[in-house]
Amino acid sequence: MLYLLYLRWTNFNCPHCKQRYTSRMMTSPRVGKEIQVCKYCKKQFRTLDLEWAHMTRGQKLGYLINEWAIVWLLVYGLMGMTMLMTAGQDKYHLGGALLALLFFGVIIFSPMGLRRWFAIRKSIARLKGNELANNRYSTPGNRAA
Ligand SMILES: [Zn+2]
Repeated sequence: MLYLLYLRWTNFNCPHCKQRYTSRMMTSPRVGKEIQVCKYCKKQFRTLDLEWAHMTRGQKLGYLINEWAIVWLLVYGLMGMTMLMTAGQDKYHLGGALLALLFFGVIIFSPMGLRRWFAIRKSIARLKGNELANNRYSTPGNRAA
């Protein structure tokens, strides 16, 4: 687990008052609000995050397969190899080991997948809300009930 030491926390500060608004392990953009109001100086600033629709294909991929997922995959792979090796040639144990592996895989990866799925859905809804608001401003006569 030594390679974990190479991942370091990075602080991100408000550009106006230099107060820290978040610290993260990863510097790649995540799905989230692009503009936030600083809780210290109440000014708006551009966050590190991007709305899903504004991400490039590479950024989307980086978001879905980030460093954490790679670390987990390594752990998962090691666990799998150990289990398969201890199960050895015994067919009965091999089947059990594979089932257990599948089970752990679902447990390990579903929370990460679900969290991203929700963030993406929220992001899409947020953009839709903005669009509606903009349409309402541009065509005040056309206001839908
Ligand atoms: Zn600030």
